[in-house]
Amino acid sequence: MQLWFLDTIRGKREYENLTILNELRQAVTNDEFLLYYQPKIDIRSKEIVGMEALIRWDNPNRGLIFPDKFIPLSEETGLIFPIGEWVLREACLQNKKWIQMGYKPRRVSVNISARQFQYYNFLDIVSNILAETRLRPEYLGLEITETTAISDIEYTIDVLNKLKELGVFVIMDDFGTGYSSLSYLKEMNIDEIKIDRAFIWDIEKNEKNRAISRTIALLAKQFNILVTAEGVETKEQLDILEEIDCDIAQGYYFSKPIPAKEFEKLLD
Ligand code: C2E
Ligand code: MG
Ligand code: MG
Repeated sequence: MQLWFLDTIRGKREYENLTILNELRQAVTNDEFLLYYQPKIDIRSKEIVGMEALIRWDNPNRGLIFPDKFIPLSEETGLIFPIGEWVLREACLQNKKWIQMGYKPRRVSVNISARQFQYYNFLDIVSNILAETRLRPEYLGLEITETTAISDIEYTIDVLNKLKELGVFVIMDDFGTGYSSLSYLKEMNIDEIKIDRAFIWDIEKNEKNRAISRTIALLAKQFNILVTAEGVETKEQLDILEEIDCDIAQGYYFSKPIPAKEFEKLLD
């Protein structure tokens, strides 16, 4: 069988990756990134208690590019270091600005990639940016995926303890999709868990996903950990989440991620 076409496809993909990579390097120097913000809602009071910062790349030729298209490549190539640092600084600056404008202080959550979290100077970067932007540490949350957290448990426990000393809030993202590290929860200094969208999207009809979400919420309560549900799109989902005692909801039902200027209109 002739497999020449596979090489062609592979070659094309490599070429595309190379082009994207060159453009991504440029994007870092040309400051082509934006942060969008998505509100996090207290399920009981329905108030906005915080917001997640989500990166977008405003590519001059291709338009707006979503993180799934460039974060993995940034991780592979190390570009995640300058990009991740930019995200942290920008999110802290913006949040500080909102507080100075007189809005009620809220917490901004920033996604941290595995490589960023595992790099030896991670804690220095976080504390330097807090000092530089003069944002109080309790108004910064760091979202670390469950997979990142359990890849080196001893290291994670140590870094999370130090983040606690700094006063920063720690969130475990995409919970339930990795190894569901329930037993590590008691050893790790975590303030909030985000139940992955995979359990939420069909929670109205899928009894198993409802049972899993209920169990996660129940266990988190025992450890004094807040529970957020991500990807909430309907009122029915929200009602179930309230019934199973989740604390916070995030999703299109309330708002998509939007630019800072638009987000401001949601604030009081
Ligand atoms: P994540 O942190 O789990 O973020 C949630 C994703 O779900 C976001 O996609 C958000 O727009 C989307 N989403 C929110 N509500 C709904 C909903 O109701 N329905 C559906 N279908 N989707 C919803 P986004 O912005 O494309 O980000 C994708 C992933 O890229 C993030 O997943 C995160 O892992 C990563 N990411 C985003 N920004 C950054 C960043 O600044 N740094 C790093 N390292 N990773 C980032
Ligand atoms: Mg996240
Ligand atoms: Mg998530």
